[in-house]
Amino acid sequence: MHHVFLKRIEKYEKKLITDFLSHFISFQGLENLRGEKVLIKPNFLKPSVPERAIITHPEVIKSTIVLFKELGAKIIIGDSPGFGSIYKVIEKAELSDFLKRYEVRVSDFSNTKSVKIKGYLFKELDIPIDVLESDYLCNIAKLKTHQMMFLTMAVKNLYGCIYGLKKVSYHLTAGRKYEVFATLLLDIYNALKPKINILDGIIGMEGNGPSSGEPRNFGFMAIGTDALSLDTILCKILNVPIEQVPYLKVANSLGLEEVNLDNIKTIGIKDIEIKPMIKFPPNYSTNFTLPSFINDFINNFFLSYPEVSNLCRSCGVCKKHCPVGAITIGKKTKINKKVCIRCFCCQELCDFNAIKLKRRLF
Ligand code: SF4
Ligand code: SF4
Repeated sequence: MHHVFLKRIEKYEKKLITDFLSHFISFQGLENLRGEKVLIKPNFLKPSVPERAIITHPEVIKSTIVLFKELGAKIIIGDSPGFGSIYKVIEKAELSDFLKRYEVRVSDFSNTKSVKIKGYLFKELDIPIDVLESDYLCNIAKLKTHQMMFLTMAVKNLYGCIYGLKKVSYHLTAGRKYEVFATLLLDIYNALKPKINILDGIIGMEGNGPSSGEPRNFGFMAIGTDALSLDTILCKILNVPIEQVPYLKVANSLGLEEVNLDNIKTIGIKDIEIKPMIKFPPNYSTNFTLPSFINDFINNFFLSYPEVSNLCRSCGVCKKHCPVGAITIGKKTKINKKVCIRCFCCQELCDFNAIKLKRRLF
């Protein structure tokens, strides 16, 4: 049985967050972690102030660190941001002094090892050594909408364990097929299987997420023994069918027991009500159980594509991260839609909100 704890928490108040986390930690029987290595993996998508709700809020990170420190653990915080270094994210989030005070080592995940896995898609993955050597991986996700996966929650957050440009090459492998990318996420999840999965849903993001949407006070936190089960329950709370989130849809079609509600025990769900419904990104999903030629037709003609607006400052970040070289920077930044695979990395990483999605009808 997988367990998901939920609690209404309206503000980033240290005591409320700590009490909630402590409850779960004692439920897990984690009372003495002397000498154990705990790797904290937040959502550090890019350097940004916490108020924009792009990154896991520093108060959630601080409360988690204090708690593990009191249990005697050695703590490492690590991530491979989509843009910018983890050190810049930490600086912008004003976490540097705190991490020094609590002797938390920062890992940029650049030191990786290729490991054999029994994946549905991949047989080998490059995993950061700090993740492999940790006794506990503590996954701290942020609740946000996501152009490609509809929602980013606990499972999607683990993609940050893939270092740097390797992410780009995996996007390239998946191409336009979201189910392939979804399966890759499941392979990463299966390889890492964190036992502590925290979700910062106090202030999340809706609309044009994961970086250009509007912050929204969802007013709750969640924590679970399994990332996939946690995300399944989050969909229930948000009133989103799991078929809408590609990796949950794939998990369901593979018959994974973690998405079966009969195998998930929830505590505190009755207190959580999300109204009005979350606003989604301006994007269509395709039913990828359809024959692939129909999917391709829909992908080519009915889905939204990124378009560059006049807010563009020609900084070149999108071009650098585009896995298929679809972007050219000139007097005007242009995207070649014939080449674009709709991974939306450009939209995620543009700091000037210059990339909008446009639905294309023929
Ligand atoms: S669209 Fe954004 S990321 Fe791309 S060049 Fe313009 S400002 Fe930079
Ligand atoms: S143009 Fe943007 S959405 Fe298209 S492939 Fe490149 S990064 Fe991905």
